[in-house]
Amino acid sequence: MPPLAGPSSAPVLVPPARVALLNAPGEADWKALGDEATTLLTQYLRINTTNPPGNEIAAARWLASVLQRDGIDARVFEPAPGKANLYARLAGDGSARPIILLNHMDVVLASPQYWTVEPFSGVIKDGYVWGRGALDMKGEGIAQLMTLLVLKRAHVQLKRDVIFLATSDEEIGAGVGAAWIVEHQGDLVRNAEFLLNEGGLTRADGRGGVEFYGIGTTEKSPFWLDVTARGTAGHGSRPTPDNPVHRLVRALNRIADWQTPLTVTTPVERSLRDLATIERDSTLRRWLSDIRTALRDSTAARAITADLTYNALLRNTISITGLKGSDKTNVIPPIATAAIDVRLLPGEDPRAFLADITRVVADTAVTIRPQGPNWPATESSTETEMFRAIEAAAHARHPNALVTTLMLPGFTDSHYFRRLGIASYGLGPFPLSQGDSRGVHGNDERVSIDALRVGLRFYYDVVTRVAAK
Ligand SMILES: [Zn+2]
Repeated sequence: MPPLAGPSSAPVLVPPARVALLNAPGEADWKALGDEATTLLTQYLRINTTNPPGNEIAAARWLASVLQRDGIDARVFEPAPGKANLYARLAGDGSARPIILLNHMDVVLASPQYWTVEPFSGVIKDGYVWGRGALDMKGEGIAQLMTLLVLKRAHVQLKRDVIFLATSDEEIGAGVGAAWIVEHQGDLVRNAEFLLNEGGLTRADGRGGVEFYGIGTTEKSPFWLDVTARGTAGHGSRPTPDNPVHRLVRALNRIADWQTPLTVTTPVERSLRDLATIERDSTLRRWLSDIRTALRDSTAARAITADLTYNALLRNTISITGLKGSDKTNVIPPIATAAIDVRLLPGEDPRAFLADITRVVADTAVTIRPQGPNWPATESSTETEMFRAIEAAAHARHPNALVTTLMLPGFTDSHYFRRLGIASYGLGPFPLSQGDSRGVHGNDERVSIDALRVGLRFYYDVVTRVAAK
């Protein structure tokens, strides 16, 4: 467990001076707004919301105090001790349905011994703001928060409500965050037309420009399974013929050897075709531009799936991750279990996959069960006002940059909202190099102040395009 004491134990953080605005911000205002965002992010990163336990209530109280200074009332729900979800809203005239800016307040564990700075110090160094959550996703949360504040200060007339929703428990994939809001406060979100969340990627080209804007329109669906083998318990010195550990190992061997079929889904076909246009390697460019044809060639298929990301985008994947037999070396247990992390492509039916994997194992003493609720992955359309606004905001800055869709091999909280019919998009406002992105769930997570400034303005532009009258 990380130390929960430290700066975060005294979150008496005084928000920075506010930038006063009477109408649309100009260049000088954006400079000052960038400074304000930077200071807010350093404060936010000092609130340790490592989940578990999360302690998101501290973050929610701080966010509420920042909103309150601008006269925006936030509702803070406390679904469990120490947990919180925050909801704030700028009202539109109701002529269009609301847009939700969704962010999670919790972060994953940081191991200080691998960091060059204290992970919850929010320190500014070498032009970066450092700290766990800088990218995932307190930085984006600040871009969303500032968007709300600037809309309010600039007196922008809105045609739709702009909702700021900060949640708990994204990083543990369940719990009392977005799922709780949808279940217990569904009326606050159900009517929304659009949602912006993490799960997008803006790739910097290393020369001050942008190579591509990747907008998350869909993600794979987790289908985590428990595999249980039953047999006869006994003493390790007198082997039983149906030792459940042996059975489990044989079953897992079959699962590990199983090559799930390669499947080209429409969203992946589209984004690979787009990415081919900026691919420098001519062979890969040809393959990606027509992935269906490429995968019929076994050499190409082998080379493409050797890339972990392409492989994950082109099939249902299986990772065996947990194993449990006996606690004692000399005891044959009555059962042995394994946990496997399955990720399904959009359009796949979890029940059909369960039938397939059961057939692969082909052992009636081995049962395979889902660990929890599951859902088929869904996709948000690119034929929406929101997607076109993102495209327009991107091209206003970088006329030649590629704007494409992304399918996440992992998942975010967007699925809760896609299932309500809300068109939900992953938007990564900060232009990041490959190296910058490594801090997500890794060490020395940080975001450059330049990227923060650019991203803040981009976010505001996108939201204004869809929400302003
Ligand atoms: Zn995240």
